[in-house]
Amino acid sequence: MTSQEIRQKFLDYFQSKGHLIVPSAPIVLKDDPTLMFSNSGMTQFKDYFLGYKEPKASRIADTQKCLRVSGKHNDLDDVGRDTYHHTMFEMLGNWSFGDYFKKDAIAFAWELLTEVYGIPKENLYVTIFEGDASENLERDQDAYDYWKAVISEDRIINGNKKDNFWEMGASGPCGPCSEIHVDLRTEEEKAKVSGLELVNNDHPQVVEIWNLVFMQYNRKADGSLENLPAKHIDTGMGFERLCMALQGKSSNYDTDVFTPLIAKVEELSGKKYTGVLEDEKDIAIRVVVDHIRAVSFAIADGQLPSNGGAGYVIRRILRRGISYSYRFLDMKEPFLYKLVAVLQKQMGKFFPELEKQGVLVTEVIKSEEESFLRTIETGLIRVDKLIQQTIANNAKVLPTEEVFELYDTYGFPDDLTRIIAEEKGLTIDEKGFEIALNEQKQRSKADSAQKVYDWVVLEDKDVNFVGYDQIEAETYITKYRKVE
Ligand code: ATP
Ligand code: MG
Ligand code: MG
Ligand code: MG
Repeated sequence: MTSQEIRQKFLDYFQSKGHLIVPSAPIVLKDDPTLMFSNSGMTQFKDYFLGYKEPKASRIADTQKCLRVSGKHNDLDDVGRDTYHHTMFEMLGNWSFGDYFKKDAIAFAWELLTEVYGIPKENLYVTIFEGDASENLERDQDAYDYWKAVISEDRIINGNKKDNFWEMGASGPCGPCSEIHVDLRTEEEKAKVSGLELVNNDHPQVVEIWNLVFMQYNRKADGSLENLPAKHIDTGMGFERLCMALQGKSSNYDTDVFTPLIAKVEELSGKKYTGVLEDEKDIAIRVVVDHIRAVSFAIADGQLPSNGGAGYVIRRILRRGISYSYRFLDMKEPFLYKLVAVLQKQMGKFFPELEKQGVLVTEVIKSEEESFLRTIETGLIRVDKLIQQTIANNAKVLPTEEVFELYDTYGFPDDLTRIIAEEKGLTIDEKGFEIALNEQKQRSKADSAQKVYDWVVLEDKDVNFVGYDQIEAETYITKYRKVE
């Protein structure tokens, strides 16, 4: 099954169960002071849970573009180093707004995975919330009982608050959840170690694929929980992970979601992807094909790279990609922008914004590459100098102020400084760096509001301009002004 078919089957299944299929919301949020990007499928429905707005239908399903690079859900450091966390990914989801609850949500998920997609039952594990005394939350016995009807009890695992109580952010709708994990190891490996021990344990072939959240609380800003006006279902399944499971692969990057992009990077760089976990070149290729998606979708949805707020997050992702390819793929000239056409070809049909904004996305990435490549050499020289100084001083830790300056002023990715330092047996002061980072965040929070660009939907076919009107985007506006 191709990834396109897998996505479509999900939507068709839930449509057949009375769900209204809606498009993904933009990846960039414009009206939410608590969140910069959609980090899960439920983000766009927050107001429904809170009772602020009436949902269009009581059953909805979709695929949502998500970005997990900031705030409560930040996977950036894992991306490239593992095979199943991305910055941008699609989250397939079905919702019930005050309609069905745990019983049907569990039955739907089980039927879809085992009967429609045909995943063998003996490859699946499920978890339920074990309760939490500090918040007076009980064990989820209902979920346990519903699971018991379809899966043997020794495959139902108790999970703690970290894994089985889902929260969107520091505040907002939340609730206990039940997750489905798939074991993709060979029979030989399974015989050695039981999958039970590997669930939620960072094993690359025993991964969480679907989270069924039983939405019934709202976490208030003061940290307390209140009941929501009604009970809802909110589920999220990682599309790329599902493709890995259904295409018989052991890495998301080996699915057809990523292989065309990887092939293009191979062609442009002359380097071969071998899928090794610790190999620097392979990490760099994973980083590049992951980050190009995040950056392209963000720009297509109206978020240009910039120096503050959400724009800075996007700029940093792009710079991380450029740095990895510069160091480990020997790519000293702009080339990431050439991947946009591949992405468009592959995903533009389902996500037309990629088609509509393709020229803009390509141009913005190219010009970002050009300008960062002019400074990257300086950054690398500075890191090198810092390392020499540190060694000369018989110290083991790079000076925090300079490390932070590299990151903040020169836009040099901190994880790269870390990697280079580690290569020489040195470290950075993580605590000190975090403090400096938090101080910087406080400073940028104050002015982030006016730095987030508005998202504009284009309906008109004769338009090839995105409607930004912020000063920083001016160069792009003149290039892509509306065709009258
Ligand atoms: P994990 O424990 O693997 O980090 P999670 O518990 O943080 O995942 P949820 O918030 O439950 O993830 O999101 C629902 C689903 O989205 C997950 O079951 C997973 O399939 C998928 N998912 C989560 N984070 C990512 C990511 N960074 N990249 C790709 N898929 C993801
Ligand atoms: Mg996570
Ligand atoms: Mg998890
Ligand atoms: Mg989860």
